Amino acid sequence: MKLIEGKPIAEAVYAECRSELEKLKAAGHLPGLAVVLVGDDPASKAYVGSKDRKCQELGFHSLKIELSADTSMETLLAKIEELNADSSIHGILVQLPLPGDLEEDTVIRAIDPSKDVDGLHPVNLGKLAMEDPTGFAPCTPSGCQRMLVEMGIETEGKNVVVVGRSLLVGKSIALLMMAKGPGANATVTVAHSRTRDLPSVTRQADILVAAIGRPHFIGAEHVKEGAVVIDVGINRVEDATAKRGYRLVGDVDFDAVAEKCEAITPVPGGVGVMTIAMLMRNTIRACQMAVAAS
Ligand code: NDP
Repeated sequence: MKLIEGKPIAEAVYAECRSELEKLKAAGHLPGLAVVLVGDDPASKAYVGSKDRKCQELGFHSLKIELSADTSMETLLAKIEELNADSSIHGILVQLPLPGDLEEDTVIRAIDPSKDVDGLHPVNLGKLAMEDPTGFAPCTPSGCQRMLVEMGIETEGKNVVVVGRSLLVGKSIALLMMAKGPGANATVTVAHSRTRDLPSVTRQADILVAAIGRPHFIGAEHVKEGAVVIDVGINRVEDATAKRGYRLVGDVDFDAVAEKCEAITPVPGGVGVMTIAMLMRNTIRACQMAVAAS
């Protein structure tokens, strides 16, 4: 069994970012990312903190905007408008989920698609479906694809089963995997909570992607011998022995599944670290596209 670790693959992405950044800087441009956090959800705060730190580490221009949980839609939309108009900002990310009655869909649609480095604006999701390379693919799905490519795992003609159909993860991974081209060309099945006899569906998978949000849901009975398993899940489970009182586990029961697999991602240390790497890659691309358009 091969362990597909995120860190060395993310490092390869960062190396690309650094090299592209040097070229941009030499021409007098600096990529800028604005991350907007509304409220004080601890997990969201941690994600925003990591994104901001990574920007600073790479030497991007970074803006962290923290708004209180009772922020109105008008205020949030005005902030996005301001960022859309700010030429020093090339990428805008609004950390989801939003608290209270804030309408996520309206907020995402307010972001200029050319700055939507999270890839969730309808224009970018449309471009993903149309295989238009000028769009931004969502970061976690493109991180999963990058992992397969870097590990030399062939996807062409393979049965890929994705469990989960969210736009953020499952549906977008399915679109990437069924696209034409390298790292894709797969035969894709998408399963969800209404799928009948899930184990018989997932056992067809040469490559199984779990994006469910349920700790250790995928067991040995879901996986065929020799499959590749990509575990997108990040779930907090109580653990009195852990310093923070919880630990992070995936959607896959790693110990039960690993011995059947050809390769598998761990949690933590797998897909999670790829998400920020792909966000940085998208921000560089947004800056390059803004420069080309100016
Ligand atoms: P959602 O809750 O939006 O979607 C979960 C999906 O799983 C739904 O499509 C749901 O089906 C399906 N599902 C739920 N229960 C079952 C079941 N019993 N059998 C089959 N399918 C089921 O979650 P996300 O897609 O946003 O996230 C999925 C996981 O990935 C979470 O653990 C999340 O924390 C993690 N994540 C990790 C990221 C990373 O950086 N690694 C980034 C984003 C998410 P239905 O549609 O029918 O309800």
